[in-house]
Amino acid sequence: MQISRNISLQPYNTFGIEALAENFAVIETIEDIATISKLTKQYQQWHLLGGGSNILFTDNLSGLTLYNQVKGIFIVQEDETTVLIKAFAGEKWNDLVQFCLQHNFAGVENLSLIPGSVGAAPIQNIGAYGVELKDVLEYVEAYHLDKHETEIFSNKACRFGYRDSIFKQQYKNRLLIVAITLRLNKIPKLVIGYGSLQQQLEKMGIVKPTIQQVAEAVNIIRTNKLPDPAKIGNAGSFFKNPTISKFRLHVLSEQYADIPGFALDEMNFKISAAWLIEQAGWKGKREGNVGCNPLQPLVIVNYGGATGKEIYNFSEAIIQSVKQKFGIELEREVNIW
Ligand code: FAD
Ligand code: NAP
Repeated sequence: MQISRNISLQPYNTFGIEALAENFAVIETIEDIATISKLTKQYQQWHLLGGGSNILFTDNLSGLTLYNQVKGIFIVQEDETTVLIKAFAGEKWNDLVQFCLQHNFAGVENLSLIPGSVGAAPIQNIGAYGVELKDVLEYVEAYHLDKHETEIFSNKACRFGYRDSIFKQQYKNRLLIVAITLRLNKIPKLVIGYGSLQQQLEKMGIVKPTIQQVAEAVNIIRTNKLPDPAKIGNAGSFFKNPTISKFRLHVLSEQYADIPGFALDEMNFKISAAWLIEQAGWKGKREGNVGCNPLQPLVIVNYGGATGKEIYNFSEAIIQSVKQKFGIELEREVNIW
């Protein structure tokens, strides 16, 4: 593997932020992974980069930045009802979804069109329209950058939560995800209860959708609502949806009758962060080159030329404003580097 110095990361992040990687190496083959130990020993700090669709660069990156491009998608095992699919980390997530749709393997159709790499999918347990990676993930193969050994993490060992996993916590920047294996169904169990998905399928006049039609409906909603990073820099939802207690929701709903809450269990509710941000007056607001998306206020956009620090400060102003109005502290979903 070759190390390049002072590489511009602008093409490597969907916000389109300019930042430099002091040392940059592309992992192209499985054999490269075996030689990583020689490299990582030389550096104090490592950064693991995928498609850069969930990262905000606020500074240059010191140490070593590893860009995993190892590709391959294989059927590992199958019987009449289920199939195990292994995909290497450097594949695009949506190419894996396309592979599954082409082979009629069900389970990831709701996760269609999510940008980024396969290797990053377990990091925040990607999710959309009522499905999360944890619902289909069998195991993750990862390489310990400090111990220099490979470990297999079962679904349970990944400690998946809402936009969370062990890789985002305890093993943050210490484990290189090499491949994931999914368990998919040959007999679909569709998840189409999400309001916007149901409405889109109705609009398309579809009562009993195929997995391909579910993916198509998801693609239509996403394309209409989300800014295309190729045209306007963004990293999807900037904040997580906060969780509050049933009591707190009750108190808030006395003042804000239409506050959207989704029950997580008997005592806790998920609140729409987009709604909180809109109520705090940020929807469509622009300050210089940074703005809050007019269609989906959870998305912060770079209208061109914004720095990572400007975007970070804009996000901080949103957090403070929502806190002041509702007493709820929003947490960033995007990784700040
Ligand atoms: P990066 O942004 O490169 O990295 C994200 C994190 O993963 C970093 O901490 C990085 O160190 C780590 N990482 C990356 N690769 C590896 C690896 N091989 N080993 C170890 N660590 C690694 N997310 C959702 O959950 N649901 C959505 O519906 C969704 N929609 C989006 C829509 C848009 C328009 C955009 C721009 C983003 C959206 N996202 C969504 C966020 C993002 O696409 C996902 O979080 C995605 O999984 C990030 O992948 P990436 O390869 O770009 O990761
Ligand atoms: P939406 O449909 O307008 O819904 C707003 C919020 O309410 C969502 O965040 C969703 O939470 C929640 N919600 C809606 N219906 C729900 C239901 N039936 N049960 C439980 N929760 C419900 O959301 P959107 O912004 O258009 O996004 C649609 C989906 O794509 C969401 O799942 C969202 O997470 C995902 N998405 C994620 C990103 C990202 O970068 N992370 C970007 C775009 C879209 P959840 O977010 O928990 O699902």
